[in-house]
Amino acid sequence: MDRKSLDSYFGSGHAIQEVIAERGVAGLEKRLLAVAEDQVTLHYLEMVAIAEARKDGARLLNGDFGGPRPFPVIQRALWAVLPQAMFAALLKDHDEFHSVLTRNQTTVEEAIRDAVSAPATDVVDGFERDLRATQDLSHPCPTCGATVDAVCRSNSKSSTKPHNPTVNHRGRPRS
Ligand SMILES: [Zn+2]
Repeated sequence: MDRKSLDSYFGSGHAIQEVIAERGVAGLEKRLLAVAEDQVTLHYLEMVAIAEARKDGARLLNGDFGGPRPFPVIQRALWAVLPQAMFAALLKDHDEFHSVLTRNQTTVEEAIRDAVSAPATDVVDGFERDLRATQDLSHPCPTCGATVDAVCRSNSKSSTKPHNPTVNHRGRPRS
């Protein structure tokens, strides 16, 4: 990014774009947290910054880990090389998640490289297979409408966003 775009950039997320459209950037503050030399390091630093903010109890607009998109791809890559990060995330143990990320920078960067290079459809299919093996699918999900033996799907209320496989929604009954 050049200097001018950097100065005017406050984020690409839906929520921040709405705020800017409504009120402009006048009340917003931006702090530079780090400078990365390459894309993998940038992804890593973003993930650590988000994990740290979440650990400190911040309310975040970003609901996922940061790092490469789409979210299921980095989740799957972490399952493959650093499952303890995913267990901490599933347990919403923000301290542990942050600690695992910072203690395993090389491994997290390996997951980021995998996520960036993986063909997305293969990854989503693989992720769905993993979910079938790990999630309790014995009851339908009241949140997204997934039936018995079907995995939960993201964005069930949206006709335009992708309906990717996802871990069970909180309200899905277990056996
Ligand atoms: Zn669901």
